[in-house]
Amino acid sequence: MKPGTSPLDPHFKLGVLGGGQLGKMLALAAGNWHLPLYILDSSKSFPAGRVTPYFTEGNFKDFDDVYQFGRHLDVLTIEIEHVNTDALHQLEKEGVTIHPSPGKLDIIKDKGAQKLFYQEKGIPTAPFQLFENEQAVRMAIEQGTATFPFVQKSRTAGYDGRGVSIIRDANSLKDLLPGACLIEKQVEIDKELAVIVARNARGEAKAFPAVEMEFNPEANLVEFLFCPAAIPAELEAAARKLATEVAAAYDICGLLAVELFLDKKGQLLVNEVAPRTHNSGHHTIDSCYTSQFEQHLRAVLNFPLGSTRMKAPSVMVNLLGAEGHTGPAVYQGLEDCLAIEGVHVHLYGKADTKPFRKMGHVTIVDENLENAKIKARRVKELLQVVSDIK
Ligand code: ADP
Repeated sequence: MKPGTSPLDPHFKLGVLGGGQLGKMLALAAGNWHLPLYILDSSKSFPAGRVTPYFTEGNFKDFDDVYQFGRHLDVLTIEIEHVNTDALHQLEKEGVTIHPSPGKLDIIKDKGAQKLFYQEKGIPTAPFQLFENEQAVRMAIEQGTATFPFVQKSRTAGYDGRGVSIIRDANSLKDLLPGACLIEKQVEIDKELAVIVARNARGEAKAFPAVEMEFNPEANLVEFLFCPAAIPAELEAAARKLATEVAAAYDICGLLAVELFLDKKGQLLVNEVAPRTHNSGHHTIDSCYTSQFEQHLRAVLNFPLGSTRMKAPSVMVNLLGAEGHTGPAVYQGLEDCLAIEGVHVHLYGKADTKPFRKMGHVTIVDENLENAKIKARRVKELLQVVSDIK
């Protein structure tokens, strides 16, 4: 950013790699300040294409596409970490401000490097071993240097549980994923928590309240998210403190979503992080003083961070494509849901649905979390994303 340039100056350019639902919600938040958001992704038909006219079609994994897109920007950020970081390193050298920094993104993109980072920094995480490929894992089992049960994770390209395999015994070795991986001790999980932390260049850091996630066992995707998490206040404070320490260790500027395991002994372990807006913060749009999207903009633009206080308890439901339906999306039960008090429906506008695709989310706010849960289950029954074509 040139000295003296304000992010709200008409010539100021903020760009984002990725134009999915996160890019869309970021563009909507930017709209409140009349801040144009420049987006790079492969098709204008993606969710963000509808809400920003500054959409460049290109591949965020391609050096030239990222470089050409980024060179005229003041600040560049991301909505997905699997982007071409070589181009980001080059742009950074040429004076473009990149948040998160490309060096940190290189670590976070690789689950193996992430785990080594936690080990080096003394951040609590499940014990792990790194392997070049699945044959090396088999060999370690034969030699007795690795033992069942364990969780195998692909070092790169994992997303929404797709790069994770639970190996219980010799029979499940057939489920080993190919390629470079890590294996991790299977944690006895009591709860899965997440804390989103924001940091800006003027040294401020703020954490959102810890949330609790409930997964769909089949799709390995978050089905319900509860805010606040049902944990004692001291544990919630410890979760925020740990997440804030992790964000400081990475020296993040922007958001860092920290996924945590609370194990059955009451210990907090860092599972993984995402240096961007995250599914575990969608409820903040409707239930916190500042949404995660506005907070990310504040952080990367070096504005004062907003309050992360909760306005009301909430439940967030991911709206996943119905099983057995692939094709143009049709939303059933929308009006019945909108008639329920405290229900906020967010549709991403993806043209086609497929089983378990994230098509939208619904946040239910209520002074009483138990009431919000009842309404959330009702929403889950009523609202279905189907397709005419079976
Ligand atoms: P992704 O990046 O695909 O979201 P995660 O590392 O978050 O992958 O793993 C997906 C899910 O698998 C977690 O939310 C958790 O339910 C389960 N899981 C991952 N690691 C472990 C572990 N070490 N022990 C037990 N369960 C795990």
